[in-house]
Amino acid sequence: MSHYWSPLVHSLTPYTPGEQPKLANLVKLNTNENPYPPSPRAVAAMQAEIGADGASLRLYPDPNADRLKQAIADHFAEFSLTTAQVFVGNGSDEVLAHAFMALLKHDKPILLPDITYSFYPVYCELHGINRVSIPLDDSFVIRVGDYARENGGIIIANPNAPTGHLLPLADIERLVASHPQSVVVIDEAYIDFGGETAIGLIDRYRNLLVIRTLSKSHSLAGLRVGYAVGDPALIEALERIKNSFNSYPLDRLAIAGATAALEDKAHLETTRQRVMSSRADLVAKLLALGFEVLPSAANFIFARHPQHDAGELMASLRERSVIVRHFRLPRIEQHLRITVGTNEQCAALTEALGKIIG
Ligand SMILES: *Cc1c(COP(=O)(O)O)cnc(C)c1O
Repeated sequence: MSHYWSPLVHSLTPYTPGEQPKLANLVKLNTNENPYPPSPRAVAAMQAEIGADGASLRLYPDPNADRLKQAIADHFAEFSLTTAQVFVGNGSDEVLAHAFMALLKHDKPILLPDITYSFYPVYCELHGINRVSIPLDDSFVIRVGDYARENGGIIIANPNAPTGHLLPLADIERLVASHPQSVVVIDEAYIDFGGETAIGLIDRYRNLLVIRTLSKSHSLAGLRVGYAVGDPALIEALERIKNSFNSYPLDRLAIAGATAALEDKAHLETTRQRVMSSRADLVAKLLALGFEVLPSAANFIFARHPQHDAGELMASLRERSVIVRHFRLPRIEQHLRITVGTNEQCAALTEALGKIIG
């Protein structure tokens, strides 16, 4: 604390990212990174962008990242998007931050699930946005009908984090259709691992903003690329915030790498199938160890053991060089969130758990 700090800084409780340990040989299953490398075409595109002498880096990148916006539109060819319906940012966390300021800050409070991505409440505090938490039901499922109340906006992650639960597209449409007065933000960070995107609804619902990231399914968490798709008026609001904050959120490597990654649909398909197949195996092994596992449509699973304290399990795993995520939050303090790794990483986890529990 310091008297140099603004009152705002004094009031903040920042988000705590999952640990990025410097130790080698850890089985890292705590931040939902993809265990497989990104598209080789993305790697080649970034190398080409640097060139032999890095001369292109003298120049600022395209402030509008038009090439990347076009690649996003082309990636969803079945929905005939235009680049005016696409916004790009430095990771979807930045896109989310802009969406809170541009579209969710009104007099009425926003609605969000009581168990959700823990960055959302942080953005509310940063931007001075009131919120009302709507409890998930006893099975940790979002009940869309519970959102039928006045609001200044709604945000949910689908699949939800950290539960992994997927709402069917019909429920998303019901939510969006029943709140034409406010913006409904759907954070689809994990949708490629088993869900159906809501992007196809944006032509019919001007209040829908879908936010996505290349961090999870495209294996590019280190590149920091996220985007939003919605009606051009919503996108313009985001552009106005962005251009009042940082005109060049995406650097040249990010634009080149993300564009090539989106073009390589075969690579996406292979890696998402591998993750989904490992997920099924991991769930079966955890059930055999006595865990209760929520059904997951994401690249992580959310599980608890009725006889073992989650905090202690996490600590014991850590002693065996396996790291998973544990949230000390109401309702979920006995759960662990475990990223689906390679089959070898998953086996290291279940072997360690077998020793701890067995
Ligand atoms: C990982 C994650 C993000 C952040 O993704 P970045 O693009 O890496 O900033 C956003 N929302 C949810 C729900 C996530 O789990």
